[in-house]
Amino acid sequence: MSDSPKVGFVSLGCPKAGSDSERILTQLRAEGYEISNRYDNSDLVVVNTCGFIDSAVQESLDAIGEALDQNGKVIVTGCLGAKKDVVEEAHPNVLAVTGPHALEEVMTHVHTNLPKPHDPFADLVPKQGVRLTPSHYAYLKISEGCNHRCSFCIIPSMRGDLVSRPIGDVMNEAENLVNAGVSEILVISQDTSAYGVDTKFRKGFWNGRPMRTHMTELSQALGELGVWVRLHYVYPYPHVDDVIPLMAEGAILPYLDVPLQHASPRILKAMKRPASSENNLARIKKWREICPEITVRSTFITGFPGETEDDFKMLLDFLEEAQLDRVGCFAYSAVDGAKANDLEDQVPEEVKQARLSQFMEVQERISAAKVAAKVGSIQTVLVDELTEDDTGNTVAIARTKADAPEIDGVVYLQDADGIQPGDFVDVKIMDASGHDLVAGPPNG
Ligand code: SF4
Repeated sequence: MSDSPKVGFVSLGCPKAGSDSERILTQLRAEGYEISNRYDNSDLVVVNTCGFIDSAVQESLDAIGEALDQNGKVIVTGCLGAKKDVVEEAHPNVLAVTGPHALEEVMTHVHTNLPKPHDPFADLVPKQGVRLTPSHYAYLKISEGCNHRCSFCIIPSMRGDLVSRPIGDVMNEAENLVNAGVSEILVISQDTSAYGVDTKFRKGFWNGRPMRTHMTELSQALGELGVWVRLHYVYPYPHVDDVIPLMAEGAILPYLDVPLQHASPRILKAMKRPASSENNLARIKKWREICPEITVRSTFITGFPGETEDDFKMLLDFLEEAQLDRVGCFAYSAVDGAKANDLEDQVPEEVKQARLSQFMEVQERISAAKVAAKVGSIQTVLVDELTEDDTGNTVAIARTKADAPEIDGVVYLQDADGIQPGDFVDVKIMDASGHDLVAGPPNG
């Protein structure tokens, strides 16, 4: 058995928190700590928490409690850590609490409570770091924080204003991931289209080539790496139009995840979202003209304070008109500390839920028709995992270019002997069911 000090690690929350976890894990491994996914055989435990909505806060507090019960030495980091008093009130015995993206602070607390080993074997850490996602896809975090102040959101108060990573660092990380066998890179941030705004689009270098810290140049360079590149959390600024030709050329995936949140100008204003719905409709139309293949995903909120029947109807009309491919929707739920909590005319819970159901009914019809339209087409899919059907045959679970991992649909590929996770395979879509597809060989 190894004598290296052992750190238990729990990672909760969104891909952005996952990316923080990967950095901490990489640093721990670089310094010679061993990582464990158990509390009881570790020397201390780090819990990376989420604090976005009330249920996430509870899940995080429960995880901290469990780690304290089973281990006793616990360091808390992440979004809930920004609310130190909430953590310490529930769990006064934690060793330390830090906010999100606090790698150095977390490491200082680890060193204080569990001194680092003398011989760290730093060279044993793979260049691409330690990743939590399956080895064939990886999240690439390009910035931290956000300059917007949407009234329903507390992320800027937890993560601060936008801080973009230098473009050279981002590209080096992407290149290391590809060299390590990654087939798909998912670009994430709080606001991907704002990348570089804080640095005034500072010039950096990648392999000696000058590049601006800007979403378009980043997308172009990522597109040269020869893997799938998917953009998430793209706020619909006018300059987003410039990445659509890269999608049409096949340099990056024809997929845009654009959180629109509502369509009524009054509600968008109350949410403090600058974009207008007419502009959004015109923009989506233009994107489809440039790249007819594009998949547009978005998220919305029903029952935001002050939302009237007319506002909600505007939202449904927008859905009918925009014909978005993928949509997520939440009934508005108050987040502790958000400005929207003080707005008048809070919508009763049953109305929020009824509107959410109505919204989903309309969108399900649109999404189902979009998915069904793929039957008969030939698609390239990326295999995520293998499973078996009732008769013991191997079935591959894969995704088309239109499907992001964990949030969109999947493709079931029958008789998948010889296929491995991470493979790209050409298939013919045979059938559709809800958001998912069934496929067979391209000549079948
Ligand atoms: S854009 Fe708005 S919702 Fe998104 S992180 Fe920034 S403040 Fe929050």
